[in-house]
Amino acid sequence: MREPKSVFVKGFDDPEYIRIIANFKRFLEKWSLDADFREVYEQNSEKAIADSGLDVEPEAIKLMLDEEKARNLQKALTEKSLTWKDLPESYVLYRAFIQEKLSFREKLRIDLCAPKDSLFNAWRERQERRCWLEMGPSARSMVQAPLMFELSEGCSVGCPFCGVAAKGLCGIFRYSEEHAQLWQDVLSRLHRLIGDAAGRGTCYYACEGLDNPDYERFIKDYFDEFGVVPQTTTAASTRNIERTKALLRFGKENDPHTDRFSVLSTAMRDQLFSSFSPEELLMVELLPQFPEAPCCKLTKVGRNRNDEQTDAVGGTIACASGFIVNMQEKSLRLMTPFVSDQKHPTGEWILEKCSFTSAEDLEEQVRRMMSQYMTKSLELNCCCKAACDFRLEEKEGRIWVYGHAIGLALMDTAIRQDTLDRMLALLREGTYTGYDILDALPEGTIIAHSILLLKLLWEHGLIDQSL
Ligand code: SF4
Repeated sequence: MREPKSVFVKGFDDPEYIRIIANFKRFLEKWSLDADFREVYEQNSEKAIADSGLDVEPEAIKLMLDEEKARNLQKALTEKSLTWKDLPESYVLYRAFIQEKLSFREKLRIDLCAPKDSLFNAWRERQERRCWLEMGPSARSMVQAPLMFELSEGCSVGCPFCGVAAKGLCGIFRYSEEHAQLWQDVLSRLHRLIGDAAGRGTCYYACEGLDNPDYERFIKDYFDEFGVVPQTTTAASTRNIERTKALLRFGKENDPHTDRFSVLSTAMRDQLFSSFSPEELLMVELLPQFPEAPCCKLTKVGRNRNDEQTDAVGGTIACASGFIVNMQEKSLRLMTPFVSDQKHPTGEWILEKCSFTSAEDLEEQVRRMMSQYMTKSLELNCCCKAACDFRLEEKEGRIWVYGHAIGLALMDTAIRQDTLDRMLALLREGTYTGYDILDALPEGTIIAHSILLLKLLWEHGLIDQSL
């Protein structure tokens, strides 16, 4: 049995190791993207494995896909009646590959995406705490990148499920001499201001990277500035297969990382499977985004939100708490993820959007927004507004706060429920300062406790002072 290795390492070269996990991955992709294949597998797994033409270990596949087997395995591993060495090799290597990706995502969220400015970082952490309360464990998958770029305005693909409800493509930032200079200047200024975390975002957000014929040239500059090849998620992977292969090669040779292809139809799936070998797509996640795919799961947000359920709350696909710079529109927005509701249908809270005229002007606007929105502490003499729809409850001497997903004990000190109700009502009105709120609490309220509670709510991103 081979020992698990790190695959996302520059120069990784073990063809047999790659072949094993890539074949395993392709089998799982067929199972999650192809309803006919899945049906055959469910009726006769041996036949599906033989028909797939992939070199996989049947027992390893069954351990992954058979729920009862997977449960029993987990139990045996916990009880130590089995060890990893007793399991099929491909199963162990594939699990190690997935674990490597998950660990890197954690590292991005906790460490690599943390801006060097302590106030920016504290603001980002407050938004992350709010996201946990609002979205629960799914917040773990949000890396909360502090800076993202868009190299075109709008998107040509028009996915019916688009979580950010991107408008149609209306402009592309081409790599002219002037634009290249502006781009390089923007990258180096924001790198200095935000630190290395500025290079942990993407060069697309509410747009399609491959709509820009010069996407690769911008990516190359980004790599030269940060030493990082940014991750690409694309719904246009099959538009020009050779172009897509070259993009993947550039990533693999310079900075191995995970890219993602949205699979929009059965035809696209078949084209991907026939045009790319399992090895070529090892570092690409195929996202099942068409209804016939057995594992199709689309977040109820943006164009995929059901507007008839006006008070329904859905998720978000946003994963940045920071700045989005649109190079074509010359715009800057400060945003953070939010549950998808009537006021935030795209699951984004845009605190401000402005335009810029030059790299210097952009840097100034970023600095201004940082000092305006990323304040050091709660200011009781300023307006305090509930940032989202949370509840407060006193239970057995503790104060709990509940978001849409989970609750959290914030304080061990009792505050009467009528005080909590009054405080929350005033925060929801959003027109009172902290001092006004303290003055208006019911008689007998211990003010010191109420101040502490307001501070804790602010620390969890639940009080917005950005008016
Ligand atoms: S999901 Fe992506 S590719 Fe599809 S319309 Fe939205 S921005 Fe464009």
